[in-house]
Amino acid sequence: MSISFDLTTHAARDALGATARASLAPKPSLIGLTRAGMGEALAGIGVPQRQIKMRVAQLWHWLYVRGVADFADMLNISKDMRALLERHFSIGRPEIVDEQISNDGTRKWLFRFPARGAGRPVEIETVYIPEEGRGTLCVSSQVGCTLTCSFCHTGTQKLVRNLTAEEILAQLMAARDRLGDFPDKNTPDGAIVPAEGRKVTNVVMMGMGEPLYNFEEVKKALLIASDGDGLSLSKRRITLSTSGVVPEIYRTGEEIGVMLAISLHAVRDDLRDMLVPINKKYPLAELIKACRAYPGLSNARRITFEYVMLKDVNDSLDDAKELVRLLRGIPAKINLIPFNPWPGTNYQCSDWEQIERFADYVNNAGYASPIRTPRGRDILAACGQLKSESERMRKTDRLALEAMMIAGHGEE
Ligand code: SF4
Repeated sequence: MSISFDLTTHAARDALGATARASLAPKPSLIGLTRAGMGEALAGIGVPQRQIKMRVAQLWHWLYVRGVADFADMLNISKDMRALLERHFSIGRPEIVDEQISNDGTRKWLFRFPARGAGRPVEIETVYIPEEGRGTLCVSSQVGCTLTCSFCHTGTQKLVRNLTAEEILAQLMAARDRLGDFPDKNTPDGAIVPAEGRKVTNVVMMGMGEPLYNFEEVKKALLIASDGDGLSLSKRRITLSTSGVVPEIYRTGEEIGVMLAISLHAVRDDLRDMLVPINKKYPLAELIKACRAYPGLSNARRITFEYVMLKDVNDSLDDAKELVRLLRGIPAKINLIPFNPWPGTNYQCSDWEQIERFADYVNNAGYASPIRTPRGRDILAACGQLKSESERMRKTDRLALEAMMIAGHGEE
């Protein structure tokens, strides 16, 4: 899917908080560690073993329930302990290079993460899409992508690196900071933002990259995001979107348990080999078998299949019929995504009437098949347009790849 924005830079950009502007410090971060990992990190700086469990619980609450980004705000931790933590660890947020707000309320942040090892700093975009009764945050898992789906602009960019669990979570936490989705730091202890009052109600791993090629870090981040004593997002409200890395689909079901979305886009192997080349390694029969085996499926827990509508490529009624046949018996929803052209692509978006005919067929066969209307298409129109516009605006300041929302990984 593609998301479009008003490119007017938010006037509040200059008023970003000092914490938000500060880069992640080179000190290791406590964000993104499992409880066990955090315990080990604390033991490593001399926190007595008998205190570890209690300290981990305290830190978990401050970091993930209250969203503090400064040890000084952890009021029930002694000054000496706070100073010790401060000396060794970071809990800061990524630098917010840019924040844009579209006319329809969609927000986009350009985050900069510091260099890791010998690499360079990287920038990625995270998008917040408010809708009636819900708000969805679209999160990236890699900078660039190793796969080369032919309709996807991200696929034309080399992989720079995987994001760490910290960086995946940082997108969520920084977005919640900016949206006022963490309790005010003066809120009395225990008074947390109730689930129904949240701005970010859903998370989709559908930004840049193939999340299942970064399985361990994505798993860590999503288990922390869904931890009931922390960020507390229901696993039913987290969707991981994959192009079809079959072995890791099984692992996702067993080890993470979030909702699944598949970038399907074609119903015949010859065509899918071309559109989503990972199909050569894991063909449709294997992919669909893994989907059928995904644990916990029901009409209330459906797999989302993303299907980008490409004129005269995959949009015939025969394709629609084959789609229905292929998915028979799988609790499924099919998101039809009008293709957003980008510079250099040979594909065109299907005609609107054809998209509707396709949708009607699938719908009449009993599958929900919403047509995704790109937001603010007049301004962003395509991933490529967003990228070139950003490059034009910030020519002298390009560091690595700019992330963009892609046509391939779709939201629930
Ligand atoms: S659709 Fe997803 S997996 Fe395919 S190239 Fe684009 S980002 Fe990579």
